[in-house]
Amino acid sequence: MADVLYTNVRIFDGGGEAPFTGDVLVQGNTISRVVKTAHGQRLPPSSSMIAGAQVIDAGGAFLMPGMVEAHTHFSWNDQPSLDAIQRMPPEEHILWCAEVAKKYLDMGWTSCVGAAAAKPRLDVVIRNAINDGTIVGPRYLAASQEITVPGGLGDTTQPHLPQPEFAFGAIVSGAEEMRRCVRMFAKYGVDSLKINLSGESITGMPGEMSQFTEEEIRVCVEEAKAWGKRVAAHARSAWSVKQCVKQGIEVIYHASFTDEEALDMLEAKKLEHFVAPGLAWLINTSHHASQWGLTPEVTKKMGYHRELEAAIDSMKAMRKRGIRILPGGDYGFAWTPHGTNAKDLEYFVRHVGMSTMEALLSATAWGGPMMKMGKRIGYIREGCLADLLLIDGDPLADITVLQDKARILSVMKDGQWHRAPPVRNARATRWAA
Ligand SMILES: [Zn+2]
Repeated sequence: MADVLYTNVRIFDGGGEAPFTGDVLVQGNTISRVVKTAHGQRLPPSSSMIAGAQVIDAGGAFLMPGMVEAHTHFSWNDQPSLDAIQRMPPEEHILWCAEVAKKYLDMGWTSCVGAAAAKPRLDVVIRNAINDGTIVGPRYLAASQEITVPGGLGDTTQPHLPQPEFAFGAIVSGAEEMRRCVRMFAKYGVDSLKINLSGESITGMPGEMSQFTEEEIRVCVEEAKAWGKRVAAHARSAWSVKQCVKQGIEVIYHASFTDEEALDMLEAKKLEHFVAPGLAWLINTSHHASQWGLTPEVTKKMGYHRELEAAIDSMKAMRKRGIRILPGGDYGFAWTPHGTNAKDLEYFVRHVGMSTMEALLSATAWGGPMMKMGKRIGYIREGCLADLLLIDGDPLADITVLQDKARILSVMKDGQWHRAPPVRNARATRWAA
């Protein structure tokens, strides 16, 4: 692909400052020049650097780094139950995952962190297929299945059908079974192990309940680290959040119920952890799932309304303490369909008290370390990888524009167009300011 020169863009560079007008040159897969044009400066048109580059005159459109989704389940199939997700035959399931991967890129998520697959190898196969160019998708870290206990969250087997093929999660009991399980997923090539430390009310086990012994968790982390893998936890209860900090589980999903001790522990190690609360799951399960029999009356009884309030309080407290809260979480259920993920940013602003700037940073600058890529992504800076979104509108004024595919004019990943901007005339591309 030819080099690309974006001119006349409002650049949100991921550093936290107000956007500035300028030009951005992409050469190969890298951002090679970022020039402010506010003072009449420009990349000289005769410059050999831009000779032959495709010029995108963006007419003042908003250029931002590609977004990072911190809690992704490509294999959740927009169905209303764990069973309905898990029972999809493997052949259809892998095609589904490939379709979803493309959808994330369509919606501006150029990187996704896998948070558990519904079958042992779905995530690994999809990651590999993206990396070798067989299918189109975001940068991806592949997860294991959810590791759980007999009777715990993710054990969907029936007493007369105990086979692992009927289980949503990987079921272990005791330290040695845990060790074997982690080794098996390491063999398959996952990037991270997912462990369910707490319950999930919709499955019958309350979110405040915790499963696993400390010893089982310790072995999981020890074995994962021995293989160079990361551990991520489904951790709704305060006890489970504390276990994440105590035992070095880097990625904490949900963290709805916290107490002062949990918050203090997390704050003390805030640069060692990421929190992705998945508020959309709590909000939609509480209030927007009646069509599937989960009326607000039902979900209130299940405890979701109380949990939503607790989660919002926890996230507000974490934000004040400077703990990194990232977007993403359990999209891929019937009432949280894939592709609506940017709702999380709206909820951060509306419920957690983030500014639109903070919400954007949570999806960009913080995404680099979440992807284990440091500052190579998440910024528009010289030397960074070219994951870029051109937006019709200003997400700093209205964060919801990121929910609208039509407003995401172009998506570039690794210097390649996933979606090139619409060309409005023969010579250049321009949008009304
Ligand atoms: Zn999840």
